[in-house]
Amino acid sequence: MDAPRLWFNLLIIILFILLYIFPKPVGLIFNIARIIVAIGVGFSLFWANGEKQSVVRKLKTDTGSLKRTEMFAGNHSLGQSRHYYDQLLMDVFNIIQSLNEDFEGAVYMIDPMSNGYTLQNATNDQFIDFVNMGNELIQTLIKQDECLFFQQKDLGAAWNALLESNDWSGSECLLGIRIIYRGAAVGCLLVYTDHFNKLARRDREIITGLGVFVSKGIEKLERIEELISDRENYSRITDLLSLQEISAPKNDIFESIRKLCRSLFTYDKLTISIQSLPGQNAIIELVDGFIEDMNVKDEFPVDGTLHGRPIRTGKSIRSSYWETDYYDSGRFTKHDNEQYNFMAVIGAPLKIGSDYRGAIVMERLSSRGYTESDLWLLEALAQTLNTILAWSDNYQIMYQHATHDGLTELLNHKSFLERFEEEISRSLRFQQDLVLLMMDLDKFKRINDNHGHLYGDYVLKKVSQTLKTCIRNIDVIGRYGGEEFAILLINTNKHKAKAVAQRIVKSISDYQFRNDDIDVRMTISIGLAQFPEDADRIKDMIGHADAAMYRVKGQGGNGVLLHDASHN
Ligand code: GH3
Ligand code: MG
Ligand code: MG
Repeated sequence: MDAPRLWFNLLIIILFILLYIFPKPVGLIFNIARIIVAIGVGFSLFWANGEKQSVVRKLKTDTGSLKRTEMFAGNHSLGQSRHYYDQLLMDVFNIIQSLNEDFEGAVYMIDPMSNGYTLQNATNDQFIDFVNMGNELIQTLIKQDECLFFQQKDLGAAWNALLESNDWSGSECLLGIRIIYRGAAVGCLLVYTDHFNKLARRDREIITGLGVFVSKGIEKLERIEELISDRENYSRITDLLSLQEISAPKNDIFESIRKLCRSLFTYDKLTISIQSLPGQNAIIELVDGFIEDMNVKDEFPVDGTLHGRPIRTGKSIRSSYWETDYYDSGRFTKHDNEQYNFMAVIGAPLKIGSDYRGAIVMERLSSRGYTESDLWLLEALAQTLNTILAWSDNYQIMYQHATHDGLTELLNHKSFLERFEEEISRSLRFQQDLVLLMMDLDKFKRINDNHGHLYGDYVLKKVSQTLKTCIRNIDVIGRYGGEEFAILLINTNKHKAKAVAQRIVKSISDYQFRNDDIDVRMTISIGLAQFPEDADRIKDMIGHADAAMYRVKGQGGNGVLLHDASHN
């Protein structure tokens, strides 16, 4: 407040006290003086309020820009969430490189203070740290909802502002998708590869999905960030996000939740349950403590039960005597409360997608109730769990897309080879043998030619399903090419594997393919090679099994042959 205003306010206050509170002098002159003072008070208040409002406005703009800068400028931090944000980007890059290891990913975010886009993270250092706001490539990208393709030869300066190299061939390309934050385009995810022919059809689709994944991810971080401000235990809850890789299996996620609940609350039973689909029974995913009544994998109806209540209503529960406060017919099933004497309860709903489909509930066998702050903490935990589960689900879907073939849902060529490498190192460690089966459908082209491509797709799907039924869970199966499949039989030898291969040949030749009232029969040819007896390198294993398979074809198909060195 400046000096003249301070004096003015002081004067008004003194006059106000003299004229209104003290002996209250009477007479016209005093009445006029009172009116003047009243106007003065009004003016003073208006002044103060105006100042307050402008402070509020200033604060709003300040925090607005601060948040944006913190969130999006390269070296600043996104509060506590920065770490989780980095994790999110790492998981996205992981998927990008599982699509193709020659892909490089980068995320740029707007940095209004510097009038440009700052590199947040990238898988290599070819991406330039800062790009001007006017960059033509990013400008185009930011305006579009879909994944766009850019080729080096078409761009020149805009390309060179993003990527560093002395020597371009012209065939380098980028796929990019914008990132949305609170409805505004704030950055982009870029995927670079040195030759456009390395891009597959579905890459665009997956990268679009990843853009959405990052957009949703940062929105959720922001929400959690709001939730955790200044509260002690909250950092422990949000640490959950860093404890987990988003790619961690669900069991690990629930295990961390159990540990955290043990340290934050006291209970006799902790239960987390989730419905696979709205309207279905809830399935118990985690139990800690008392397990005699209900345990993991058990199901219970959401209607009429205490544990179903948060799911039904989308609201938290808290009570010292739940039977008095909630008129549910039982905890998990009707009248189970007659057998088990749980009294105090606290619970929060879990939101999955747009529905309440889960609950985290703690119960005590005594009536020692949970406090308001227990509930508050539990709700924060539930929110965090929602985020982790959503991330984890999205990640799994993306990962599945990136590593599996869309038509048959088997491992794709690249992922199969990766698994092959892993299995080879494992078999060396444990001194076990491995058998590779290379398979090719006989005269498959005629199916497409006679009945159309869709019918061909149906046959490929059915064959994949049949193949899966012939092997064990530990074996690895992939779609190696169009109508070629590969299987790795773990810890076995060629002779045992031959029996499996013969079973496959028979299952396929016995199967009556029927779709749209069209019947066809198929046969398959299989070649086998054993690791390490026949070869100790993947390339040679594939060569040997392939050669054996072609020998089967030479004999008319529909059979199995082992690798035979005399044919090399
Ligand atoms: P062979 O007995 O020598 O193996 O003969 P073939 O007809 O099975 O082999 P060829 O390599 O001549 O033809 C394979 C065909 O598989 C050609 C291709 O159009 C078809 N194909 C590859 N991928 C797909 C797919 O995803 N769907 C469909 N419907 N057909 C596919
Ligand atoms: Mg073929
Ligand atoms: Mg074939």
